[in-house]
Amino acid sequence: MNKKELKDVKVNGKKVLVRVDFNVPMKDGQVTNDNRITAAIPTIKYLLDHQAKVILFSHLGKVKTVDDLKKCDMAPVAKVLEQKLGQPVKFVNSFEGKELEDAINQMHEQDVILFQNTRFADIIDGNGQISVDNNGAATAKRESKNNPTLGKYWASLGDIFVNDAFGTAHRAHASNVGIASNISESCLGFLVEKEVKMLSQGVDHPVKPFVAIIGGAKVSDKIGVIEHLLTKVDKILIGGGMAYTFFAAQGYKIGNSLLEADKIDIAKEFLAKANGKIILPVDGLEAPEFADVPAKVTDSPEIDDGYMGLDIGPQTIDLFEKELFGAKTVAWNGPMGVFEFRNYSVGTKAICAAIAKLTDAFTLIGGGDSAAAAIQLGYQDKFTHISTGGGASLEYLEGKTLPGIEAVQNK
Ligand code: AMP
Repeated sequence: MNKKELKDVKVNGKKVLVRVDFNVPMKDGQVTNDNRITAAIPTIKYLLDHQAKVILFSHLGKVKTVDDLKKCDMAPVAKVLEQKLGQPVKFVNSFEGKELEDAINQMHEQDVILFQNTRFADIIDGNGQISVDNNGAATAKRESKNNPTLGKYWASLGDIFVNDAFGTAHRAHASNVGIASNISESCLGFLVEKEVKMLSQGVDHPVKPFVAIIGGAKVSDKIGVIEHLLTKVDKILIGGGMAYTFFAAQGYKIGNSLLEADKIDIAKEFLAKANGKIILPVDGLEAPEFADVPAKVTDSPEIDDGYMGLDIGPQTIDLFEKELFGAKTVAWNGPMGVFEFRNYSVGTKAICAAIAKLTDAFTLIGGGDSAAAAIQLGYQDKFTHISTGGGASLEYLEGKTLPGIEAVQNK
């Protein structure tokens, strides 16, 4: 990897600005899942062990209206972080201005500051005023539109920038690209470094045979992924709701299954140029309504009138297992069915199990829902890597460069 890593940078005594991903789920002012905070600890501990002054910041939720200022307050995160680190974390209830600058100037080595939600800058303008339109919707957008003054200002607060937030790496925001473009030294944190190494190994330098599994709801979300992966893989196994647009392209009856009629042509195009690389389901599980009702197994891709296909069927599971056998690299994005319903989680679970059996392969899950499915179904430790960034890993699978990583200095 050509990007600077933490270990390439001298952080002792330096003010280190760390863009973390503390976008944790909250309920009634409490953090309900602290996995993302836990995941940031190795980078923070490394910096503390090397006598840095650690200045942390992140977005939290979507800040679109004034009400969101309360809902997306970062203060509870500081409390959780304090417990995990076993040392005080000074929370600064602002993201710019004198209070923040004073707090940073007073820092000693091994102190930790967490400042307020970077997306508050989407609703608070450069004069500290709330900025909304007639409907109460935020208009300042300084963080999410990468306001150059804000990026420069944040960069001026520290000596070194560490990007450890993979979840926003596909966005050019002030708190990643803005800072990285205005500071003399920047590097990747441990989390982002691992993501980039794993995705690059899985997608850019795959050991063959390389089999991709693509599922989920919509073809439209995965066009870029299929397009890019077709140039890399030996096979693409397609499942999930998106398979029905392919079936429609082949002239099958699909009942009330998910269909994107305007994507039938692109599905035809993919099938024509795939040269046999695209493998579609051969049967399915159908239901009379979108509900967790007992499934009816079909014996072909066709779905009965009045029914909808909600999962792949047993023959498809056999077929996909055979296709996966002997694979040396597997990349998976998108569940095979409506895994949230117990009756229609069978295909996704079977694919998890089939991949887990490949002990001699590099196995990668990219994307929010497939990662959630694998974890929910108990396969958390059975893959080489489960990417933490939904949108970011999807864009990586599309072959796009991620601006948040691109902006970090090369070695
Ligand atoms: P995605 O975010 O595109 O990966 O899609 C994930 C969603 O696709 C999940 O919420 C699944 O319930 C849904 N999904 C998968 N298969 C189907 C299907 N056959 N019909 C409807 N929704 C599906």
